[in-house]
Amino acid sequence: MTTLRNLPSVEQILQTEAAAYLIARFGRPLTLDSIRFVLDDIRARFQSGQITALPLTDLILAQTESQLITWTRQTLLPVINASGVILHTNLGRAPLSDATIRAMDIVSRGYSTLEFDLESGKRGSRLIHAESLLQKLTGAEAALVVNNCASAVLLILSALANKKRVIISRSQLVEIGGGFRVPDVMKQSGAKLVEVGTTNKVRLSDYQSAAEEPTALIMRVHRSNFKLVGFTEEPELKDIVAAAHQAGVPVVDDLGSGALYDTEKYGIAHEPTVQESMQAGADIICFSGDKLLGGPQAGIIIGKADLIAKIKKHPLARAVRADKACLAGLSATLLHYLKDEAEREVPIVKMMSLTLKQVKGRAEAWAAELGKGSVVEGESTVGGGSLPGESMPTFLLSLQVKSAEKFLRALRKNNPPIIARTENDKVLLDPRTVLPEQEGALLVGVKNILKS
Ligand SMILES: *Cc1c(COP(=O)(O)O)cnc(C)c1O
Repeated sequence: MTTLRNLPSVEQILQTEAAAYLIARFGRPLTLDSIRFVLDDIRARFQSGQITALPLTDLILAQTESQLITWTRQTLLPVINASGVILHTNLGRAPLSDATIRAMDIVSRGYSTLEFDLESGKRGSRLIHAESLLQKLTGAEAALVVNNCASAVLLILSALANKKRVIISRSQLVEIGGGFRVPDVMKQSGAKLVEVGTTNKVRLSDYQSAAEEPTALIMRVHRSNFKLVGFTEEPELKDIVAAAHQAGVPVVDDLGSGALYDTEKYGIAHEPTVQESMQAGADIICFSGDKLLGGPQAGIIIGKADLIAKIKKHPLARAVRADKACLAGLSATLLHYLKDEAEREVPIVKMMSLTLKQVKGRAEAWAAELGKGSVVEGESTVGGGSLPGESMPTFLLSLQVKSAEKFLRALRKNNPPIIARTENDKVLLDPRTVLPEQEGALLVGVKNILKS
């Protein structure tokens, strides 16, 4: 009769060559854990009568290996974005330029001048690294880089408006996404929210009368992910600034996306630019590093020197500071703009600037390579909580398959996973968001799924 005594021991399994190989791959402690885990599982299933025969050592080792693979599998994996959404928030927003990746790689590999002044040999400040580039690009007196734009807003308000009044229009009390609600963040900072105007209309006089009481800031928040249309009214930023300054109140402009270029150039709506906010006279401007700027995740704060100095000194600045890889990468991305080479080097700008002819050419090449599918007109979007409702014409590879849902699932299971979309039971692949170096892998993946 088979009894659990016939089950090999941990020691016996460890004697095998296969176990030595697993130890070399996964390390001894984890391999031991895994063997014990598998043996325990077999014992339990045997005792409960789920199995009546005990597996041989080979099978136990195979189970041990698959357990080890499951335990050590990365969950954060690169994917091929064929969805046509350029700044796909769930897919990690902006892919980075080669120079940006090199800069992040080199400071991550070794030691750096993160907080070290080579001239004096003494302690330096991490805040200087991107600051001069931002000053040059925007004309701002001073700048500060933090973890992301949400923390930038929290920091600005905490440093400049704790327990003080901040005036904001009701039309701008928005939720940006992922639960980031402007009114909640404002409250979190300790600022006293003073709402003016209505959901659809706010007038300059609303700001002016609210600013008659002592006020720390007037805040403008870019609506980013939705449009206000119809019976609406909102004063221009420069007029808000003029009224605010008359009352001696500084203006903070949370741009969110904060492009350094005009998106209209690419046939889509105008997204407020950093330069425009500067020209309008905003005292503090904040925007993301990984939205339309196309750099690493960061929150960029620029503006008047005295206000930035206060923000830098606030304890929260330490809590939300940017790390060395971010500072190095952001500087490299900013350099592309300074050298007027963003369209050539920054991937998301490159994607936007692709001509229809170029996109069509790639879709046609895919169809030819696959020997299947047709090239159809479609739309790419910018995404990333910017330019709501805006799309740019594109050409798609359209695949007629038995079940579009099943095909999408198979694409997601590919290595690397491919993210596409469906419409009218067809699978659509947009070349605009597929990086050129991923095209080979995309075609191999699609070919294999078509064959199976
Ligand atoms: C996206 C956005 C934020 C948050 O930026 P993150 O970099 O994602 O933290 C804040 N404000 C506005 C207006 C935004 O559009």
